[in-house]
Amino acid sequence: MLESPMPLLDIQNLHKQYGAKPALRGVNLTVEEGMVFGLLGPNGAGKTTLVKCALDLIPYHLGAIRLDGVDACLPESRRAVAYLPERFSFYPYYTVLAATRFYAQLHGLDDETFQARIGKVLETLKLVDLVKQKIGTLSKGQLQRVGLSNLLLSDAKLLILDEPFSGLDPVGIRELKDLILHFKALGHSVLLNSHILAEVEQVADAVAILHEGRVLAQGPLEALKQDKSLEELFFATLSKADGSRP
Ligand code: ATP
Repeated sequence: MLESPMPLLDIQNLHKQYGAKPALRGVNLTVEEGMVFGLLGPNGAGKTTLVKCALDLIPYHLGAIRLDGVDACLPESRRAVAYLPERFSFYPYYTVLAATRFYAQLHGLDDETFQARIGKVLETLKLVDLVKQKIGTLSKGQLQRVGLSNLLLSDAKLLILDEPFSGLDPVGIRELKDLILHFKALGHSVLLNSHILAEVEQVADAVAILHEGRVLAQGPLEALKQDKSLEELFFATLSKADGSRP
């Protein structure tokens, strides 16, 4: 029998509470290698909490998380993952080039590797003309491109993008979708935490719908949607859950 490949992100029975308030109630979730995975859910569903647990930024109460087979509590698990928060920020007086160098060092790249990669990364992200500009003077979209350069420079297998479409103009959204598919073509897996269903639908291979700390649906996008749109699937899934309450 063929063994199925080990998931890059494997979350089993994850429970997290803030004080007495449950935020995640027994979440099971897997992201396989080479896929774009959409983590969907209404406000307060638990998406950010789940990502923070996976990055070991906050403790959880029960369950297990493995990143590329390594317990997510162990620092070495972070080699497998690079993260772009919703509001990327950096020291305002650094130049774009200095910021990219900083992140390269953080990812353990030596200077030779940085020099070999940075030209292509700046070109891909349209940052060539901005290299000498200070971070504090960039527009929101430009700043996000600097954050994305951090992901492109890294060798991390799993890239986690938190609400990456928020605040982007239509050109920025189109470019980001292309970039996500570029990440996938380079062999990365991408976990998108997003509200913007139409954009996720165009790039995701698989999704999970989270609601009130539980996964209501999870799997390959086409199989889940059948003949529906992602928006129809999303609302049908939520209303089924709400309707089945006692
Ligand atoms: P959004 O889409 O609005 O960002 P989300 O799906 O990311 O929401 P979380 O931010 O994970 O949701 O929040 C899940 C639940 O946990 C919410 O009810 C929220 O109020 C609560 N919560 C999150 N962080 C804290 C905290 N630090 N202290 C107390 N409660 C929190």
